[in-house]
Amino acid sequence: MLNLTCVFGGLLSSCSHPTSSAPQADLRIHNIQLVDVEAGQLRQEQTVLIKADRIVAIVPEAQAAQWQSKAELDGQGQYLTPALWDMHVHFEGRDLVADNALLLPVYLAYGITAVREAASNLAPTVLRWRSEVASGQRLGPRIFTAGQKFEGINSLWDGDLEIGNEQQMLTGMDLLQSQQVDFIKITENTLAPDLYLATIREARKRGLLVSSHVPYGTAIDELAQAGLSSIEHASYLLRLGFATEADIAAKVRSGALTNQQAAALYRQGFEQASADAGYRRLAKAGVAVTPTLIGGQQLAHLHDTDHSHDTFLQYLSTDFTANYQWRIQRMAGETPAQQQERKGKEQLIAAQLPRLQQAGVVLLAGSDSAALNTYVYPAEALHAELQLWQQAGMQSADILRAATINGARFMQQSQLYGSIATGKKADLLLLKQNPLLDIRATRQLQSLVYQGKVYDRAALDQLLQQAAAQKQQVDLQPD
Ligand SMILES: [Zn+2]
Repeated sequence: MLNLTCVFGGLLSSCSHPTSSAPQADLRIHNIQLVDVEAGQLRQEQTVLIKADRIVAIVPEAQAAQWQSKAELDGQGQYLTPALWDMHVHFEGRDLVADNALLLPVYLAYGITAVREAASNLAPTVLRWRSEVASGQRLGPRIFTAGQKFEGINSLWDGDLEIGNEQQMLTGMDLLQSQQVDFIKITENTLAPDLYLATIREARKRGLLVSSHVPYGTAIDELAQAGLSSIEHASYLLRLGFATEADIAAKVRSGALTNQQAAALYRQGFEQASADAGYRRLAKAGVAVTPTLIGGQQLAHLHDTDHSHDTFLQYLSTDFTANYQWRIQRMAGETPAQQQERKGKEQLIAAQLPRLQQAGVVLLAGSDSAALNTYVYPAEALHAELQLWQQAGMQSADILRAATINGARFMQQSQLYGSIATGKKADLLLLKQNPLLDIRATRQLQSLVYQGKVYDRAALDQLLQQAAAQKQQVDLQPD
């Protein structure tokens, strides 16, 4: 970590001889090319002035001399970008508390300073981490969490909030509100469609954000009308490629079709024009989408990829990666034809991204990293996700917005986060390359500014080394 003292050559005089009238800052980042994510443009030769953990001024290089600063960071040739938000992660696994905890600083080393934790069976722990990060007791990204997610009775999930009627839903909502969760998450394993919709409506009535999957028994438009804030996983959107989606949902609800029969119907064909019209309706209704492509991609390439040398494995405990096995085993029997079908489906999902963007749907960048999601590595997977979006034909500026300002806006935090502006928190990345030209630049992190501190590359590498060492310790501990 860089000490905020005067240790730089050319501008030493302006630092060591403050005049009483000069405005004061703690840190001056100068000579930078500022990435304006909202405009999707670079602003050349800017100086950003930071006091404690806030941006207090942004001035052209030529006007920076009037400011006094305790420390400086020379951004010559570098690009200053808002830090990244991963809008879909899970910190889960009852036996994986230390295993998940050691990964929190790793997020920072990958330039991610905020995560939206989309429900967990470690909800009380995650809520504690949220406040520990906020108070500076724990080093990690800012956490926005759903706590426990809503599900139906006897769902396949562990640690969820299972409800079978409206009264149980209201009681559950009271509990989540008392825990001050940041949003409500709902999934569809055994939750009845009517109760699903009622849960969305109740959350919105209470002023809460609500994110969910899409049950076979509800049409996507019904979720939107109920007030859903975001759909998790773009795979569900393929159903909009069926003009009969509402009929299929109604038949599932009435019992005329089973979920399996509906799934089989949705495997037969896809009309792009119908989907595009659906995306425009989603945009109009203000429903955001978190595509989470990387998990599906990893599964589609499971049979032709050797992960045994992945460098990220040094941060993942043996117990953590043991969870990967259930999907690996479940897919072991897939035939080449099934593998091909899976790849085709993933390609079709990815191809929807530029179309969603064009329709005006707000996209949120999220990895869905979790111990249960095979080879979706925490922190690293967000960069892989962004790369997939670029391969799918998305513009870098749109991708960068989805990983910064869109997340902050969605969480109603854009007055403090998501872009580089006076008054906002200084959660900043210095990158070697221009992310507006190629989103892979987010992998070239030189320095991170976070919570009033500068982490240069050596400090970031130290965070990674510490995580690797802790992983070794966790592996040695008996279960
Ligand atoms: Zn998820």
